[in-house]
Amino acid sequence: MLGYPHHAAYVAEDGCAGSTPAVDELLARLAPGVMENAQREAESLAARFAEIAPGETFEAWDWHYVEEIVRAEQLTVDQSLLRSYLEFDRVLHDGVFAAATALYGITFREREDLVGYTGDARVFGVLDADGSTLGAVVIDPFTRPTKQGGAWMTSLVDQSTLLDRAPVVTNTCNFPAPAPGQPSLLSWDNVITLFHEFGHDLHGLLSDVRYPSRSGTSVPRDFVEFPSQVNEIWAWEPELIARYARHHETGEPMPREWIEALQAGRHFGEGQATLELLAAMLLDQAWHQAPADRLPGDPDDVEGFEQRALEAAGVAHPLVPPRYRSAYFQHIFGGGYSAAYYSYLWSELMDADTVAWFRERGMLDREAGERFRRRLLGPGGSVDAMETYRDFRGSEPDPRHLLERVGVS
Ligand SMILES: [Zn+2]
Repeated sequence: MLGYPHHAAYVAEDGCAGSTPAVDELLARLAPGVMENAQREAESLAARFAEIAPGETFEAWDWHYVEEIVRAEQLTVDQSLLRSYLEFDRVLHDGVFAAATALYGITFREREDLVGYTGDARVFGVLDADGSTLGAVVIDPFTRPTKQGGAWMTSLVDQSTLLDRAPVVTNTCNFPAPAPGQPSLLSWDNVITLFHEFGHDLHGLLSDVRYPSRSGTSVPRDFVEFPSQVNEIWAWEPELIARYARHHETGEPMPREWIEALQAGRHFGEGQATLELLAAMLLDQAWHQAPADRLPGDPDDVEGFEQRALEAAGVAHPLVPPRYRSAYFQHIFGGGYSAAYYSYLWSELMDADTVAWFRERGMLDREAGERFRRRLLGPGGSVDAMETYRDFRGSEPDPRHLLERVGVS
């Protein structure tokens, strides 16, 4: 009735990808290399498994077990020791805030006179380079019994020049709550999460639009994760690690060999992780691009449909099933991600391209930050997302950087 060949085309049109062929092309481009990487990992894990359980067959469900054994053998850094060097306040001030100050010229001042929505939510005023007030961020890092799981950013007040409103955003995580009088010590994954959610916060805080409905993160689904993924990269910046990763009692910097081990382990297991995601993205497209007469008429054929779709896309690996099988792939039927599960990859396409751009200019370069702020974060959803991107970058995102990142060249 609406003139679209299928639901996937309708969804793609509203996103950055613009069309189903553009989505298909990116996914297809990755498939062979990603399969190869996963196969390489499969062979090496199968060899280790043969030593652990001689005579047994290595199966999909053994994968993570063997992978953790190999990870512990190869990576010499003990995650539990890292925590003593990752104290929450230090990571927040000397890592997350410091990166934003270096890049965008903004500073943060804790406002003890402003109360958050709960006792342990802290409010920080955000000041622009000239000292004027830009907005506020509510930092709510710890678990509590009534809190939903996961980590997210919320916009409490959307920025708008029409209504003369400054943005107020939250940074909500579920880090282990410290015992009274004790410091809160984070895992490395927690640190990345904090940077990630703060990337969404910056999108809201640095918004510069007229209408509140177009502010900050009001952008297409395949765009919204891009600024937050970019912000993760500063967690890895040696200059910042030296400042924020310090022992909570002695102030000693984190040993260099641990940082090197973290860097070395960054891509461990990525072949499998990328393949299971890619397979899920292709499966989502298969369901939503299929004409009605090609859909399984019988519940018993759901798995058959899935298998045929994965085979046709060249991503059927017996040891690496898709992240979600059809029967429990919630996102793509009622979860708002129908024909849009590819969004994560599309965001990563721009993320990888932008990180390459920052690398050329200097990772904490103020001028580069200023351009990213004014041309990309500022316009929010007031301009077509890809137009914003081209205006910032001067070109379309180059898939080469994404291919390099996932180890496919
Ligand atoms: Zn996110």
